[in-house]
Amino acid sequence: ALLILKPKYKHKAEIVKKFDENIPNIDCFQGEINQAFINIIGNGVDALNKFGTITITINNLENKFVRVIIQDNGSGIPDDVKAKIFSPLFTTKTESEGTGLGLSITADIIKKHHGKLQLKTKMGVGTAFIITLPVDQTTT
Ligand code: ADP
Ligand code: MG
Repeated sequence: ALLILKPKYKHKAEIVKKFDENIPNIDCFQGEINQAFINIIGNGVDALNKFGTITITINNLENKFVRVIIQDNGSGIPDDVKAKIFSPLFTTKTESEGTGLGLSITADIIKKHHGKLQLKTKMGVGTAFIITLPVDQTTT
């Protein structure tokens, strides 16, 4: 997915990857998990008001969980918006820019995979989405 994203966002953001060396497998529907990450990365790029950075960190938590952090140095999310971002059809974008479906679909996908989705945001500093997914113990 990163290979596809790079050319798409090259003029809007630098994508920095910080991946641990040994990332165990996740038992997942790969198309869905890709979609979940693409939604979050796309939002991060949209949140940059000028050329910015999207940092993608992948950590191996003792072969039990894989944690993916997608961080932007964009606008941040105000409290009133933050309360609604996972609701289907909620968007602060125009009709042509956004549908408001991305994060609700992403949250459903993460939940279906028994994962956890957390949010850290600070106005004027940026936003991080933290996704924690259980490792496929049959392959470790
Ligand atoms: P859409 O991108 O189509 O608007 P989403 O469900 O993906 O729908 O996101 C909902 C809203 O959450 C966005 O319209 C935006 O206001 C806010 N949002 C999501 N991610 C970020 C982010 N990284 N920085 C700032 N705002 C965000
Ligand atoms: Mg979106």
